[in-house]
Amino acid sequence: MNPRLEKTRQKLLEEGLDAIFISQAENRRYLSGFAGTAGYLLISIQDAVLATDFRYTEQAAEQAPDFRIIRISGDMDGWVPALVLDSEIRKLGFEASDISFSVFKKLSGSIEKTGKGISLTPTEGIVDRLRAVKDTREIENIREAARLADAAFERCLSVIRPGITEKELAWEMEKFMRQAGGDAPPFELIVASGSNAAMPHHRPGSREISRGEPVIIDIGANINGYMSDLSRTVYLGQKDKTFDTLYNIVLEAQQAAIDNISAGRTAGDIDGYAREIISGAGHGEDFGHGLGHGVGLAAHEEPRIGPGSSTVLEDNMVFTVEPGIYINGWGGIRIEDLVLVEDGRAAVLSHSEK
Ligand code: ZN
Repeated sequence: MNPRLEKTRQKLLEEGLDAIFISQAENRRYLSGFAGTAGYLLISIQDAVLATDFRYTEQAAEQAPDFRIIRISGDMDGWVPALVLDSEIRKLGFEASDISFSVFKKLSGSIEKTGKGISLTPTEGIVDRLRAVKDTREIENIREAARLADAAFERCLSVIRPGITEKELAWEMEKFMRQAGGDAPPFELIVASGSNAAMPHHRPGSREISRGEPVIIDIGANINGYMSDLSRTVYLGQKDKTFDTLYNIVLEAQQAAIDNISAGRTAGDIDGYAREIISGAGHGEDFGHGLGHGVGLAAHEEPRIGPGSSTVLEDNMVFTVEPGIYINGWGGIRIEDLVLVEDGRAAVLSHSEK
C-alpha cells in the first residue's frame, strides 16, 4: 500500500470528491514516483492512473508500480473521455493553482464530451500540504542537499576575490556541486554584490566584486530531486560600518525565529519573532519578503513562513529561516538556514559559518 496515495484518497473523501486530476509536476512525482517531465495522474478511490506519452511510458512503468500506465498522444479530447467514461467519477477535482486557463478549457471540453454530467471542482493545495511533512528518506536526501550547499559555500570562500564577477563565482559553485554528484540546481545561484545585494533575487551578472561591500550568496542544491537552500552574506577586506550593524540585526532576528520554532505553533508566529526585531531596529520596511518557505521536491513549497500564515508547524516539516534587510543603493544582508522540525523543536540542517 502506498501511504501517499492512501492519504490523498482520504482527502478526496473529506472534500467530497470522487477523484482528482493531478497536473502539477512535483505532485505527480511525489504521488507516483515517476520523475519524467510530462504526464497527468487520475486518482480515484478505486483506481490510480498515470497518463504519459511514448517518451516516458517505459520509465513510468518502472518508477510508478502503484499506477496503471496509459499512453497518451495529442489533444485531451483524444484520451480524457476514455479515462473517465467507464468510471464512477461524478465529481472530479483539479489543481486550480497549476492549470492554465487554456488547459482548463480543454479539460472541461473533453469532460463535457462524455455526456455523463461530471463536474470539475477546483482544489487548492491537497497534495502540497501532504508534501510539507517529510518521511525519513526525503529528510535524508534533504540533509544531503544541505551538506552539498554547505560545501559549495566553502568553495565560494576559497575562490572569491576582488575582480571575480558574480557570474564567475556562481558558476564555480554550480560546477563544484555538479562534480560532487549533485543534480541541476533548483534555481540560478544568486551572487549579488554591492548595490545589487539590495535585490533579494538578483541574477548574477558581469559586475566585479570589490572590497568593502556586501555580497549575498544564495545556493540551492539538488540531491535525487530533493532541494536545499542556503544564503550567507560576506565581504572582502574591510567591511563598511553599515555591514556590522545590519548583519547583527538580521542574525539576531534569525536566531529568535529559530529558537521559537516548535511543533504546534503557527508559521505566522515564527515570522513575527524575526520581524519584530527587524522592525524594532527601524528596518521593518526593508524586510519585504516572508521569513521562509518549505523545501523538498521544490525549492519553494509548503509551508510558507510569512506574516499571518496560519499553517501549524509539525514534526518533519523542513523550511528555511531567512530574514533579510535590503537598502537601495547600499546593498543587503540575508542569512538563510534550512531547518527541520524534529521532536517538536528546530534542528538546523545548514552548517556554514555565519
Ligand atoms: Zn530561500
